[in-house]
Amino acid sequence: MKENPRDALLRVDMEAGRLIKDGFLGEDHRPLSDIISQDLDTLAGLQVSHVELGRAMRRLTRKGMAAIGETVDAGDYLVKTEEYMGWLGCPFKDARRAAKRNTLVRDKATNKEMRWSDLTIHLIEEHAFFQGKGSAFRLEPEALAAFLGLPGALVPQDE
Ligand SMILES: [Zn+2]
Repeated sequence: MKENPRDALLRVDMEAGRLIKDGFLGEDHRPLSDIISQDLDTLAGLQVSHVELGRAMRRLTRKGMAAIGETVDAGDYLVKTEEYMGWLGCPFKDARRAAKRNTLVRDKATNKEMRWSDLTIHLIEEHAFFQGKGSAFRLEPEALAAFLGLPGALVPQDE
């Protein structure tokens, strides 16, 4: 499918060396709309929404924020969140920005680990953008949903 002009512009900023050193696209040459729609199809098959995934990720990051740089017990998971100076702007140019904060989560039962930044959470929650194939920060929707125990609710609720 041909890329629309707006997406083509967004895509330029997602390449390596623009907003962030490694970019958001990896080796993925598909139009943005195709990357997003294929991941949405995967999620539809799993009956999980990108918003639910983003919220579950954010809840875990908040647990880690209780003790920055330390490993925090969060029920079925261990969470370690680290913060750095500064902010990262959203490449979709919605005037949103994310603190430079990384979260490493380990599932106690399986010892499996996943890591994400606050910007990654925003991209998934708001834009259904899991990043391009081959990007160091891409999270595969299926693996992420399984890790977070969704659909269902392994991740502890705040409220
Ligand atoms: Zn955004």
